[in-house]
Amino acid sequence: MSRYWSKTVHQLSPYVPGEQPRLANLVKLNTNENPYGPSPQALAAIRKAADDTLRLYPDPDAKALREALARQFGLPGPAWVFVGNGSDEVLAHAFCALLKHERPILFPDVSYSFYPVYCQLYGIAYRTIPLDRDFRIRIDDYFQENGGIIFPNPNAPTGLALARTEIERLLAHNTESAVILDEAYVDFGAESAVSLLPRHPQLLVVQTFSKSRSLAGLRVGFALGHPELIEALQRVKDSFNSYPLDRLALAGAEAALADHAWFETTRAAIMQSRQWLAQELARLGFEVLPSLANFLFVRHPLWDAGKLAAALRARHIIVRHFRAPRIDQHLRITVGTDEQCRRLVTALSEILAASPSERDAD
Ligand SMILES: *Cc1c(COP(=O)(O)O)cnc(C)c1O
Repeated sequence: MSRYWSKTVHQLSPYVPGEQPRLANLVKLNTNENPYGPSPQALAAIRKAADDTLRLYPDPDAKALREALARQFGLPGPAWVFVGNGSDEVLAHAFCALLKHERPILFPDVSYSFYPVYCQLYGIAYRTIPLDRDFRIRIDDYFQENGGIIFPNPNAPTGLALARTEIERLLAHNTESAVILDEAYVDFGAESAVSLLPRHPQLLVVQTFSKSRSLAGLRVGFALGHPELIEALQRVKDSFNSYPLDRLALAGAEAALADHAWFETTRAAIMQSRQWLAQELARLGFEVLPSLANFLFVRHPLWDAGKLAAALRARHIIVRHFRAPRIDQHLRITVGTDEQCRRLVTALSEILAASPSERDAD
């Protein structure tokens, strides 16, 4: 608190990202990073771009990357593509550009916890819509007046995905305000709504290079949608930062996008490990939601989630525990390499084998 702070800053309660501890031999399963490195071709392109040209500003329009993304997703051209410094920035611009209206916007009560933070920052009213008892989004609950709708598909932190037919049903009912789908995890087995874009001018699909392309450290995200929506995002961006993507990010993202083989191999490996890990956790007595993301959302009926997270941490394994309503007895566990998954399962078996007195000790 300071008298120099603006009223806006006084009232903010910022998003708290998962921690990035610097511990050796850590099994880090708390922020849904990809356990496999980025495409070697992307790394080579970044190294190559690190030369004297860094004295020059990058392309403010990121034209080459936007053209490549349009081609990749079968869209008419770069006017259908917006890129930003991570999809978090793309989402922030989308809240400002498309979701700030008179009526409250809608998103699930259990969802990406950045959404209410953006609402606070931009003064956007919102109403949360409860997931059903099985943590599913019920599309019919969104058939009501609103200033816009946003949710991740698959949802975070549940990992549950809606079929494209459900998204189509929502779009058919909701034509007067923007519908934003945050597809950060869509490459791990869910159905993307990108093919619906040409017929639905209210739809914006947001994706990222952070998860399936293993470039969380490079900060590249993008939005796909009708040029009218994209122009709104450009207008906000050009009122904020002309150069959100630097030369290294542009080079790395373009090369990563071109390396189909790396993308396919690594995401297939993660989906396979997810299946194994889900099976093993179920065998240990966990309730495991059927995830189509690169993480599992689990709960043990006999064990406090906070205590489990602490016991894992003592064994240098970090998972995410949200102290939030409805989900404070769940853990969100990123799918790691097979070796990391094995270490997690071994550690959990040891912890669960402990005596009840040990269980209750903090
Ligand atoms: C990880 C994540 C993002 C943000 O990704 P960045 O592109 O790294 O900013 C956005 N939405 C959801 C639901 C996420 O889990």
